[in-house]
Amino acid sequence: MPEHPFADRRRRLAESFERLKLPALAVSHLPNVRYLTGFTGSNALLLLTDRDALLFTDPRYELQAQDEVDCKVQIVRGPLWPALGKVLARRKIAGLGIESEYVSYEIWRMIAKEPLRLKGVSGLVEALRAVKSPEEIESIRASVILNSKAYERGLKVIKPGVRERDIAAELEYQMKRLGAEGPAFETIVAAGPRSALPHARPTGQPVNANQIVLVDMGANLDGYASDMTRVVHVGKPPRATERMYKAVLEAQLAAIDKVRGGVKAADVDQAARGTLKRWKLDHVFQHSTGHGLGLEIHEGPRIGKGAETVLQPGMVVTIEPGAYVEDYGGVRIEDTVVVTAAGCEVLTPTRKELLVL
Ligand code: ZN
Ligand code: ZN
Repeated sequence: MPEHPFADRRRRLAESFERLKLPALAVSHLPNVRYLTGFTGSNALLLLTDRDALLFTDPRYELQAQDEVDCKVQIVRGPLWPALGKVLARRKIAGLGIESEYVSYEIWRMIAKEPLRLKGVSGLVEALRAVKSPEEIESIRASVILNSKAYERGLKVIKPGVRERDIAAELEYQMKRLGAEGPAFETIVAAGPRSALPHARPTGQPVNANQIVLVDMGANLDGYASDMTRVVHVGKPPRATERMYKAVLEAQLAAIDKVRGGVKAADVDQAARGTLKRWKLDHVFQHSTGHGLGLEIHEGPRIGKGAETVLQPGMVVTIEPGAYVEDYGGVRIEDTVVVTAAGCEVLTPTRKELLVL
């Protein structure tokens, strides 16, 4: 890591203050606080001005904050927002930006007192976070590789009679054994017709012979998420499943082929959708083609219909088209890729042909 990555990020963020006519910004969304200070605790509030940064947290985190944070820290007993309000009053700061998506009405009422002028801002830190530094890309790569290893190990338990929930538990156990903090989201294991539910939660149902098993999993390693979906078939797959798999794989490869710095996110989505349309499967592909990931499992940019974001080198996104046929089953194939000037690098090492167990 560069010596002061957090100070550098805060400085780049402060550059937007003037344009927004903001003397100060309160950052309350914890992944944003972590991105700007290194703090990983569960209770924090960050006050940023164009001159300095002050992190508020409670006594439980005093030692941790000393270790992790490179800016001033104020330890507060009780709620953090009133403490921030007092600092603003003392410094005679009259305008404050708040992250409108993350501040409750209660907090708004508590701090919206004369003469303080509040301004809701949205996506400021997230816009910085969307383009990853080389160090962050390496962290995501490590998370992706760990996740793929956990998948390889966990595959061994998939057989008729084993419950979806037990397979998910095994996959998450393997992630932890390999050094992950835990799963980045609740692992999806969906067998047979349940694989047609794009966000199925694992159940107590056992896998049967001759079924699709869809696995969507991601690890959290040093704060960075990974995300991968693979589909395996227990027993020889029927022709209809093979056809669906071939179509989704073709759509996924077409979308990956489209990814490049300077390309609109919607055009990547369209590459997947257009391919599925040729297979007459576009009507059973209901979600977006992908999403950014990093400190959070879902972050910008969205790769979907109407997404105007222009991809930039350093963005890290998933490419995950799918097809879901009610009462039959579903297929989704998901990799994580880094956008480059010339195209993209696929980070996910796991093979993509339909694995028959
Ligand atoms: Zn996923
Ligand atoms: Zn995903």
